[in-house]
Amino acid sequence: MREGEEDKKGSSSSSRIRVLASHLASHPSMASEKEAALAAVPSDSPTIFDKIIKKEIPSNVVYEDDKALAFRDINPQAPTHILIIPKVKDGLTGLSKAEERHCEILGYLLYTAKIVAKQEGLEEGFRIVINDGPNGCQSVYHLHIHLLGGRQMNWPPG
Ligand code: AMP
Repeated sequence: MREGEEDKKGSSSSSRIRVLASHLASHPSMASEKEAALAAVPSDSPTIFDKIIKKEIPSNVVYEDDKALAFRDINPQAPTHILIIPKVKDGLTGLSKAEERHCEILGYLLYTAKIVAKQEGLEEGFRIVINDGPNGCQSVYHLHIHLLGGRQMNWPPG
């Protein structure tokens, strides 16, 4: 480790803890999600979603093909809350890591969201969310689209 690197790491983790504390103080009811997101370390390592793709852990799959998998969120924020993910991550830990080669899969995932919304009967509308990075409240570093529906959404989002 180079000189000074430890200090830099130490100060960035203490500033992350300060951010976390201020978030939790202002929104106690949202503590666990923010906590998970702010504690998550952005990385290209395998995530829980790889285990879901490989069927090593159970999930409630609502749609699957050779490129995409859609399953119900374990902690739903709306009557319908589904995650749509690429089966091959290919460096797409989050949207901010997208390269031109990802255009096709990104479009495919959005189109899949529309198919799943129809399958779920969300004729009155729905919301698509992609959280990115700590500020975006991303907790799992495998790109995923949240499909939320079944209730009136509010704006602005939290
Ligand atoms: P994000 O905070 O945008 O990274 O979203 C990650 C989502 O994954 C959260 O809404 C979690 O509730 C959801 N999640 C985490 N683990 C699982 C799991 N095993 N099965 C289904 N959803 C999960």
